[in-house]
Amino acid sequence: MRVAIVGAGLGGLCLAQGLRRTGIDVVVYERDTGLDSRRQGYRLHMDGRAAQGLQACLPPDLYELFVATASSPSRQVTVVTKQLKQLHRVEFPEPDMSVPARVNTSVDRFVLRTILLAGLEDVVHFGKTFVRYEQKDTGGGMRVLFEDGTEDIADVLVGADGAGSRVRGQYLPLARVRDTGDRALYGKTPLTDDIQARLPEMLWDGFAAVVGSRKLGMALGLVRFQERPADAAARLWPTADFKDADSYVMWALSGKGGAFPADERMRALDGPGLQAVAEDLVRGWHQDLRQLITGAAPEETFFLSIRTSDPVEPWPATTVTLLGDAIHAMPPSRGSGANIALKDAGRLCAELTRAAEGGQELLEAIGRYETDMIDYGFTAVRDSLALARQGGGPVAAAATFLSRLTGRRTT
Ligand SMILES: Cc1cc2nc3c(=O)[nH]c(=O)nc-3n(C[C@H](O)[C@H](O)[C@H](O)COP(=O)(O)OP(=O)(O)OC[C@H]3O[C@@H](n4cnc5c(N)ncnc54)[C@H](O)[C@@H]3O)c2cc1C
Repeated sequence: MRVAIVGAGLGGLCLAQGLRRTGIDVVVYERDTGLDSRRQGYRLHMDGRAAQGLQACLPPDLYELFVATASSPSRQVTVVTKQLKQLHRVEFPEPDMSVPARVNTSVDRFVLRTILLAGLEDVVHFGKTFVRYEQKDTGGGMRVLFEDGTEDIADVLVGADGAGSRVRGQYLPLARVRDTGDRALYGKTPLTDDIQARLPEMLWDGFAAVVGSRKLGMALGLVRFQERPADAAARLWPTADFKDADSYVMWALSGKGGAFPADERMRALDGPGLQAVAEDLVRGWHQDLRQLITGAAPEETFFLSIRTSDPVEPWPATTVTLLGDAIHAMPPSRGSGANIALKDAGRLCAELTRAAEGGQELLEAIGRYETDMIDYGFTAVRDSLALARQGGGPVAAAATFLSRLTGRRTT
């Protein structure tokens, strides 16, 4: 069986790792020229859903590298006012990084993708933009066609090509991804001595949300590597190159579009211009919050429209399938999209492996994966959207909501 995956994002690479491990012929096509050619965000919340998917797919040394390069475990979520007055603090059950189901941490996206790419260099092809597929007239399988005029032949095609998926566009043309109207301005602040000295205390133990106004909120998360990624790689996978990953604070100002200058203006701004807008938006906020924005790396600031997938009715299984944002994109309000994409990878890998080993028919395998995935994937979309619709800024709302659902509220 030959599986072609479109998209070397988190889900596509994780699936490729798993299929490779079980000896299935797999190839990945990615339109970007490299892992770091585009801003995609920095810090990713990772929980048991992701860790179980990763453990199912990665060779043990790479899974260990994921654990070693994770940030310190998340023990709480704190909600504060813009003057840093605490509104809620919610403690999580004690995370346990040695048990995948109990993982609760954050990782750096580039570091995680570097781990996911390790050992796959010969099967991942960068700079290859998928255009469309065609069923072959004879002999089964399909032709997968690229923008540069080349093609490949595969038995199974997996669209792991993110929210704007072309695979989905051809396969399920009625499945829609729409703009929620929410916007977010993301930045990254290196954890220098100065920043560290005035870092709000709550960030050392987990995620924080600032309720700025009815329209605008701010999310803050620290990525503090337990072990320097380069040291962990030297021990576990010496060829992995993490490009001097250092600890930092991720911040995101988020709210309805009206909380920001007009989209056209925001899209015309470069990193320093966006950083200036962020500084303006937090004028009058506590100086320890403002210093995080003034201390940010300007070129790392970016602006994002938040999109979501509409629910899709189940469809009959074929040899084309989808995973991750390509089928169930969701707002980042609950930190679920990557977790679910990695869960998808683990599930699809298990089903395809059983089919390759003769334990079940291929279409039955894909159908079982899709039935499950549609259910938990769109539940996650609904939950993420529900948070994003609450007031006080979507990210602040997320933490408030979490305080009702999970953990132990202490204040
Ligand atoms: C700022 C931000 C913060 C987030 N924070 C979190 C978080 O804390 N926790 C969490 O769980 N989720 C988070 N998410 C969501 C998460 O990033 C996504 O859900 C996740 O990346 C989905 O993975 P994926 O593999 O499906 O798609 P992607 O990671 O988007 O990968 C898709 C890949 O396909 C490639 N591609 C697209 N079209 C083509 C084509 N035609 N040909 C070839 N290649 C193509 C793209 O270049 C890309 O590399 C966040 C998202 C953002 C934007």
